[in-house]
Amino acid sequence: MKADQISKNIIVFSVFKEENISNERPTMKRKSFTTRSLNVPYAKNDPHRALSMPIYNSVAFEFETAEDIAANFRGELPAHAYSRSGNPTVEYFEHKLKALTGAHQALAVASGMAAISATIMAVSKAGDNIVSGKNLFGHTTALFAQSLNSFGLETRFADLNFPEKIEKLIDENTRAIYFETVTNPQLEIADIEKLSAVAKKHGLLLIADSTVTPPVSFHAASFGVDVELMSTTKFISGGATSVGGAVIDYGTYDWTLNPNTREFSERFGKDAFIARLRKNYFRNFGACMSPQIAQLQIAGLDILELRFERCYQNTMVLGEFLLKHKKVARVDYPGLPSSPYYRLALKQFEGKPGAILTFDLESQEECFRFMNRLKIIRRATNLNDNKSLIIHPYSTIYNEFTELQRAEMGIRNTMMRLSVGIEGADDLMEDIEQALS
Ligand SMILES: *Cc1c(COP(=O)(O)O)cnc(C)c1O
Repeated sequence: MKADQISKNIIVFSVFKEENISNERPTMKRKSFTTRSLNVPYAKNDPHRALSMPIYNSVAFEFETAEDIAANFRGELPAHAYSRSGNPTVEYFEHKLKALTGAHQALAVASGMAAISATIMAVSKAGDNIVSGKNLFGHTTALFAQSLNSFGLETRFADLNFPEKIEKLIDENTRAIYFETVTNPQLEIADIEKLSAVAKKHGLLLIADSTVTPPVSFHAASFGVDVELMSTTKFISGGATSVGGAVIDYGTYDWTLNPNTREFSERFGKDAFIARLRKNYFRNFGACMSPQIAQLQIAGLDILELRFERCYQNTMVLGEFLLKHKKVARVDYPGLPSSPYYRLALKQFEGKPGAILTFDLESQEECFRFMNRLKIIRRATNLNDNKSLIIHPYSTIYNEFTELQRAEMGIRNTMMRLSVGIEGADDLMEDIEQALS
């Protein structure tokens, strides 16, 4: 191996060998998500042949000789050295994500916010900007408008229902177009192929936050997404067990087009982004995933498809039930044929656009009364738990915004957001019925 190839391995692949990627084996290609998840091999044979990936509760890893450790630091000997940069349990989680999505590279981080912040940092520098959908997860809005802004990274917010308007915001310092696959709680869906066309035309990276549409029914690369970000806290953690995040690079973007990744591109080729991300941001900012969390997330991936299917089925049942209910003024779920985004949901998410719906009652007082009477559905702010969770976004998540801002974001005081869990659908309907009556 040439020295350059070896150092690439250390930064990018660590101890995994290419032939261990089960997804690339022809026999695994056409298997179900769950079968593939259960059969991703380890980087090295476990000495006890453990069927569950062990938790490597170790900060540091020993080397045979002084020469070996020096070779590792020079980037010539792939091995784990220190768990902030890489840990065998965390790496196995990354490797599973890579195998399951068919991605070129995957990086696990401490949270969804860590995935977003490190990614934006890795593709831009002070004076640059990104163009983003205007309806975003609250802390992402805060990150873009407050935190990154103070480092000289500007975000220009656009209505993604009008891709042509995005173009007006792009200039020579724009580095990426950013969007969420289904916005929450508006439940709007952008036409990703149209966004991709704009990104390609201007040589920009297309970044998707796909947290609410897990890789079971959404195949980001098929629609032109270059980098996919996930809060694995939500669906992937297996039912709200732990906070985590992931950066998935599909290897589709030409990193020489971005002046910030050009130099890495010369050294690392297709791995320019992940190398810059790992070396300059992930490692140095320190938001790593711990091995204990990685093990929960690994277990979560194995049951993701089962849980997602059940959550989706329940969401459809509840959506149709609420649509017919006399006391319910409005229901939004893009999986329902009545939604203006139904066509895009079919095209982009196989008709399964996550498991969050919103519905409206006559007034905020009616919403509160309803929520207080629920016995099975929990009043909480998370998403994609095994338990169904309900919240009144207007008075909670968006309480810091003015009346006008809330109106602009489509946050009505008559609306509740329901994240549908895996309980029996009949039990959920019964709970809603008794709380409405
Ligand atoms: C929850 C969430 C995040 C943030 O993830 P954390 O793991 O809580 O940091 C980002 N984007 C979306 C769409 C989310 O729902």
